[in-house]
Amino acid sequence: MTRDLQGYEHNVSKWEPVVDAYGDLKEFICSCGRGSKEASNYCPNCGTKMDNSNIEKEIKEAIINALN
Ligand SMILES: [Zn+2]
Repeated sequence: MTRDLQGYEHNVSKWEPVVDAYGDLKEFICSCGRGSKEASNYCPNCGTKMDNSNIEKEIKEAIINALN
């Protein structure tokens, strides 16, 4: 049995941190619209591989934006 997964790894996205008006991190959103409580390596909904290499920086920026 062979499975063609070519192209799958090219599909890389990022979690978008969602921060409320008080600067509290609520969840992460995938480009497919799925929300997640944690920034996992793969989206549990669409299966996209997620690049979390800058997630800490992106969370900080989202908090700064929310408080502005
Ligand atoms: Zn997704």
